[in-house]
Amino acid sequence: MSQLRPVDDVLQELLDDVVPTARVESRRLDDAWNCCLAEDIVSPVSVPPADNSAMDGYAIRRDSIDTGRDIPVTDRIPAGTTGRRLEPGSAARIFTGAPIPPGADTVVIQEDTQSVGEHIRILSLPPLGDNVRVRGQDIQAGATILLAGEKLKSASIGLLASVGQPRVNVYSPLRVAVLSTGDELVEPGGQLQPGQIYNSNRYVLSGLLRRLGFEVVDLGIVEDTRVATRQALSDAAGAADCILTTGGVSVGEEDHVKAVVEELGELKVWKLAIKPGKPLAYGHVADTPVFGLPGNPVSTFVTFLVLATPYLLSMQGYRSVLPATGRAVADFDFTAGSRREYLRVRLHPGSPLPVAEVFGNQGSGILTSVVWADALAIVEPGEFVARGDEVQLQHLPE
Ligand code: AMP
Ligand code: MG
Repeated sequence: MSQLRPVDDVLQELLDDVVPTARVESRRLDDAWNCCLAEDIVSPVSVPPADNSAMDGYAIRRDSIDTGRDIPVTDRIPAGTTGRRLEPGSAARIFTGAPIPPGADTVVIQEDTQSVGEHIRILSLPPLGDNVRVRGQDIQAGATILLAGEKLKSASIGLLASVGQPRVNVYSPLRVAVLSTGDELVEPGGQLQPGQIYNSNRYVLSGLLRRLGFEVVDLGIVEDTRVATRQALSDAAGAADCILTTGGVSVGEEDHVKAVVEELGELKVWKLAIKPGKPLAYGHVADTPVFGLPGNPVSTFVTFLVLATPYLLSMQGYRSVLPATGRAVADFDFTAGSRREYLRVRLHPGSPLPVAEVFGNQGSGILTSVVWADALAIVEPGEFVARGDEVQLQHLPE
């Protein structure tokens, strides 16, 4: 019963339980940044659409040029125009991005020429095809350029623009409800009475969720009563695709989240072999998944990153949901207990690996450690890390 479940087992169980969203919407490119692509994209055009000049210079037919002679310049082709057919032995003034005229095959850069009235002298003849960007060298018409389940990064949206597509089908961003449980919580701006603290989890989660492209449905602070928790969770189930609660998942009689999820739907609770974190509740209320994250701010942060984030990304339709990991050299000694530990570390440049400095206070209430750190060092249960050992990292989002 008190068996601690390995983090990776629970994560797998969570991912197996995901029902990906089916809601798709068409968005203008300007509104599609950071969304999850819902379709494979096949380019209708080649990019570039025509052979064009990579430099400012002169277009020539290379085998027709005698460098000992002055060459007549018979055309001028700025970007956005097209030139006439080039006669052998002549040159066309050409600018970067302008199409190579028929009859030409090479561009001599301006710096390798000398102007002589209406003629040029070529000081150095480049190899055949030099400074010509060939049609389709970036994208061939008919090529699949993006896949469903990819994140639309700025460059991906640029790529869609480069093939002339003004809109794109994306999965509608998940609406994620955030509920902060705790009678001790006060919103910033309010006056603290004895026994009270400010609600910080709400702001941490809201930023992390927005960064991932989700819509945040903030449902405020929930009183530590069965009635209030029941009301809040059923409201949330109607308003969101997934619910995150913080606090109230321990064993105390002030902890109502588990009981209410069980009453309204179904519940799984794991004692996780994770530090910080340990208790994690997961279940459904009216088909809406609910994560009961632990209340301590660092525990909320770590369990959100390690467990809820891959789940939500998978639900959103992403194909790749696991965090990128890296390695560093420990600048500290550390022995993990019976749980996998996620230490807040700061990375310093080092070769071949960065050096990880550990934050002095690794307590689960020390939010300062998260602000200070730029990565989590992962130490397996029972593992001893000595200064100079390699450790695995998960980088922290901004
Ligand atoms: P709980 O799991 O509800 O017992 O909460 C564990 C600890 O986290 C307690 O010290 C709470 O006061 C604290 N905590 C819970 N929710 C928040 C929150 N939203 N912001 C800051 N601290 C919190
Ligand atoms: Mg509480």
